[in-house]
Formats: sequence, C-alpha cells, structure tokens
Amino acid sequence: MRSVQPMEIGVMFWAGRDRLSEIKSLGVACGQLGIDGGVELNGHAAQDWKTALEDNHFALATVFAAYNGESYADIPTVKRTVGFIPPATRPEREARTYEVLEFAASIGAPSIATHIGFVPDDPGNPDYIAVRDLVRRICDRAQKHNQTFALETGQEPAHVLLRFFEDVNRPNLRINFDPANMILYGTGDPIEALRTLARHVVSVHCKDGDWPPQDQPGALGTERPLGKGSVGIERFIGALKEIGYQGILSVEREAENQEERIRDIRSAIELLKSIRG
Ligand code: MG
Repeated sequence: MRSVQPMEIGVMFWAGRDRLSEIKSLGVACGQLGIDGGVELNGHAAQDWKTALEDNHFALATVFAAYNGESYADIPTVKRTVGFIPPATRPEREARTYEVLEFAASIGAPSIATHIGFVPDDPGNPDYIAVRDLVRRICDRAQKHNQTFALETGQEPAHVLLRFFEDVNRPNLRINFDPANMILYGTGDPIEALRTLARHVVSVHCKDGDWPPQDQPGALGTERPLGKGSVGIERFIGALKEIGYQGILSVEREAENQEERIRDIRSAIELLKSIRG
C-alpha cells in the first residue's frame, strides 16, 4: 500500500455503499474504510479489497467497525445501542471486532477504530470494567499485527476519555478525533478537547455540525457540510498543525442521500485544500 503524507486529504467511506473508483474520482488517494455489521468478511473479501487498493494506488489509514443493531437516533438510543456498552451484544461485537481486525491486517491497514459507546463516568460501574477489559483484549490482539486501536470521540467529555485511556493502559490505544461529534453530543469545545487528547490522536474526521437544540433534552445536534457548522474548521486545522498532527484529514459526511453526500464531500475537499495550503 502507498504511504500517506502528513495532513493528506482523504475520505471516510463505506464498504457496500461507496465504490472505491467513485471515491478516487474525488481526487483523493487515501481514506478510512467503514465496515458495517452486515458486510461479509469471509472468503475473498480481503483479497478483493487488497487488489482494488493496489490497482487504485489508494492507502487506507483505518478500517472502522460498526455493528448490527446500532442506532444514532438520539442520545438515549445511542447509549442503549452503540458500541460495547450494551451487555447483550457485547460478546458478538467483540468477536466481530476480531474479524474486522484480521481483515484490516490482511489488507495492510495500520489501524482499526470504532465507537465503543458511552463510557460511564464511574470507574466502578460494571459496564465500565467490562468494556475496559474488552478494550485491553482488542489492543493486545491488534498489537500482534502492529496495529493501533482507535476510539472515536464525542460521546464523552475529553477528561473522561483521558482517564479511561490511563486506566486501559495499552500503548497502541489511540483516538480517532471527530470535532463535530463533540458538538453533536454537546460534550465540549472540540479544539480544547483536541489539545487535551493530542498525544493519543492517530486520525481525525473532518466533519462539521451544530449544537443540540436546548429545548429538546436527549436530542443530538445536526451534522452540517464542512465549513457550515460550529466546529470552526480553520481553527481545527490550525490546532492540528500546532499539535504536530501527522495523520490524514479524513472527510466524513452522512447526508440524507448519496448524491448530496458526494457533492458535500467534494466541496469539503476543496475547502480543506484552501485552508491547509
Ligand atoms: Mg466520525
């Protein structure tokens, strides 16, 4: 796989939803590949992706795992359904994470990532303890392939995530920093959070959004095209330069329809080029 340049612009895209050729036609040669719970990873999947990446001279920084049964409808639903926090689906999601990890290793991706769900504030909480131990097991498995395991930010404030990191205590545990999520979940100023978490950040999403409506408790904020929300994307890129960030700038956009999504990703790439210089 080709190696990427620091702050190279890339795209977060999804197996089964996006074609690599379409992503490549946006003028990027790197990105992060999302794998939904329903995506078949047995058989030829790894070899097919490996060939496609090589043919397109395309580098993957990360393979992202999402799981069957997750919903991002509002904050209570996220708490109930996302990541490793819900006990009922924990064993099957752990097993699926290992499948994604092995897939990522066979196609040469240096990092895997996921939303682990809302980490409870209380380190004595049984869910906190179970998820901490699970994250340790995933890190140890990833270490065998020299991979990092990155947690997506946003669902908890930076200081809670930092304490969880110290508690997990694994050298290959990292952060995929998503500035918009800090806003969408109302968890804090993203630039301040980036500075707090800087030494653990291995990858970033370039995504934008507005804060949750104050009159609707539990509601999420609204995702917006890059540059149109409350992140302050110039400030974000400036802060990444300040902390000496070496990873890619991965544009993430979840619009209603694919046409709008691809159009917004295209504009985001242009915007990032003009800001980054
Ligand atoms: Mg994200």
